[in-house]
Amino acid sequence: GHTGSSAAESVLEQRERALAEVQEHYYREPPRIERGWRHFLITEEGRPLLDMINNVAVVGHSHPHIARTAERQLRLLNTNSRFNYEAIASFGARLADLAPDPLDTVFLVNSGSEATDLAIRLALVATGRSDMVAMSEAYHGWTYASDAVSTSVADNPNALQSRPSWVHTVAAPNPYRGQHRGSDASRYGPEAAAAIDKLAASGQAPAGFIGETYYGNAGGMPLPEGYLAAVYAAVRRHGGLAIADEIQVGYGRLGHWFWGFEQQAVVPDIIAVAKAVGNGVPVGAVITSRAVADKYRDAGYFFSSTGGSPLSSRIGLAVLDIIRDEDLQGNARDVGGHLKARLEELAQRHEIIGAVHGHGLYLGVELVRDRTTLEPASSEANAICDRMLDLGVVIQPTSDRMNVFKVKPPLCIDRSAADFFVDTLDRVLSEGW
Ligand code: PMP
Repeated sequence: GHTGSSAAESVLEQRERALAEVQEHYYREPPRIERGWRHFLITEEGRPLLDMINNVAVVGHSHPHIARTAERQLRLLNTNSRFNYEAIASFGARLADLAPDPLDTVFLVNSGSEATDLAIRLALVATGRSDMVAMSEAYHGWTYASDAVSTSVADNPNALQSRPSWVHTVAAPNPYRGQHRGSDASRYGPEAAAAIDKLAASGQAPAGFIGETYYGNAGGMPLPEGYLAAVYAAVRRHGGLAIADEIQVGYGRLGHWFWGFEQQAVVPDIIAVAKAVGNGVPVGAVITSRAVADKYRDAGYFFSSTGGSPLSSRIGLAVLDIIRDEDLQGNARDVGGHLKARLEELAQRHEIIGAVHGHGLYLGVELVRDRTTLEPASSEANAICDRMLDLGVVIQPTSDRMNVFKVKPPLCIDRSAADFFVDTLDRVLSEGW
């Protein structure tokens, strides 16, 4: 069809006419972004906006080392991953080194959805089974298998109707709200384990359990203590595999830990990672043991033309160099700690902030109408986002209730920018909600 632009049509109008409606954009009236620099997005008019949500641009926007690396590699070679070139070997080895034993074998893909999809297929093929267990309120991707285990209703409640019968969900282990709160949250792990035992007893022993290792998309908080230990033990007791979705929470963002599963003191059988891995260039990876990869070699299929291409691998290496050289995980811990302390202070003055969750630069600011009932302040969250944008801050809500600000800026953010965010939020909340 005809999608050429006419002179009078705005970029936004053209976008909305040419793209499927489900390919959404932030804000009803989004600013037109032309450039990025570190933790800022810069509009066409040259106005900088503090970017508090960009967990993809982990080393910052327009990083000169990334730009140089991309240009150099594109001038040298970029081809499909079946050729023999150095970058794929060193990137694969580098990723394997980042994972704990016995995870030493890497598959390179292009996105998070591909990574979780492949992780699920590895579990299905390695165990010869067809059932999977996932947490409620989770998001793992849009491809067939990754979408099947995505149980969040935030984006489209109707999407759950097409969930296939091989997906079994356990309760959302939210320690702040939900079935078990506060000290009761210790019950989520044993209950999920019991549900897995029950599945096995009914002849549907699962191929695996997939979950974010930190309660990421659902609210930006740690899972209850011991949760993954209980669930991983149950799934393994019945011969299944534990899949860790580290796509949002892993790669240093939590500050104290490189991987989210370290916070839970467990080691998964399969890690899926993406987003930060390529700093916006499409790169993802699955890391598993040689034993699981060998079972897949015998009975599965995998080929990705551009997964681990010379460009992707070089960028992947450059991102890891920058995270190390600029100590971005340390910065996530330090600036994140400062940010959390300041937000907690804000919570003492503004009733609407029910809680400040999270670690490092993965925080959740949960807005409630009432601190006892925890009624989510979803429409308020939306209005606050619009007002924050007026004042130069990009922030967005997450969770099934869309009432938790996801605070996950590029890891290079400094204290003064963190302070600007808190001061602006303070100002907006003081305007009255
Ligand atoms: N898993 C998690 C936890 C995610 O947050 C996302 C993306 N929001 C995905 C998987 C899918 O990644 P992608 O968008 O790169 O396909």
